[in-house]
Amino acid sequence: MSAGFHTSGGWIEVIAGVMFSGKSEELMRRVRRATIARKRVQVFKSHLDDRYAGLWMVTSHDQRSLEAVPVDSSAQIMQRVDPTAHVIAIDEAQFLDAGVVAVATALAERGRRVIIAGTDTDFRGEPFGAMPQLMAVAETVDKLHAICVLCGNAACRNQRLIDGQPAPYDSPTIMVGAADSYEARCRACHMVPRADAAQGRLL
Ligand code: ADP
Ligand code: ZN
Repeated sequence: MSAGFHTSGGWIEVIAGVMFSGKSEELMRRVRRATIARKRVQVFKSHLDDRYAGLWMVTSHDQRSLEAVPVDSSAQIMQRVDPTAHVIAIDEAQFLDAGVVAVATALAERGRRVIIAGTDTDFRGEPFGAMPQLMAVAETVDKLHAICVLCGNAACRNQRLIDGQPAPYDSPTIMVGAADSYEARCRACHMVPRADAAQGRLL
């Protein structure tokens, strides 16, 4: 959390950014430090993300992992929340429904520290799921950047590739189990072809 933020009640902190920007690493770091402070921590993550270790872990791209409760909806967080937990962390929050804003707010109002990590823009570079609302209601927001794989500048976009080619604008936001892949890129290197770009029109 940002230095200088103090409160006696609960609060919401968001860790936003593109894939590979270190959100999971930062979430794990905060959870480890809360555990050292003898806080009880419960970690949730969206079911949709099952990279590497399977559904029960939060795993960063450097392969460190943490035990997590998989959920498909924000309602399941409320059902499964441990009433004795001081800190509630939610990873991959962009995949959850809009109810996650009310869930995070309710937990913070009950005095909990709520840590939310998520990708704030989709492959088109547009706001992703409830992340914009979560960033608005949070006490603190950290927006992390990756490194553009093409030019080495700070990357703020998720480049989706389908069969190695930039995915068109109208491909679905979430393609579970599809043969697509992602790269971190900067704004200038990010490519989202539009259907009628071939006709030379600028949309
Ligand atoms: P996120 O949760 O934001 O997807 P992770 O915490 O899982 O990110 O992974 C961050 C790690 O990914 C970095 O510390 C680095 O080791 C690795 N990495 C791989 N590709 C890149 C990249 N293009 N830019 C930055 N880090 C990268
Ligand atoms: Zn670039």
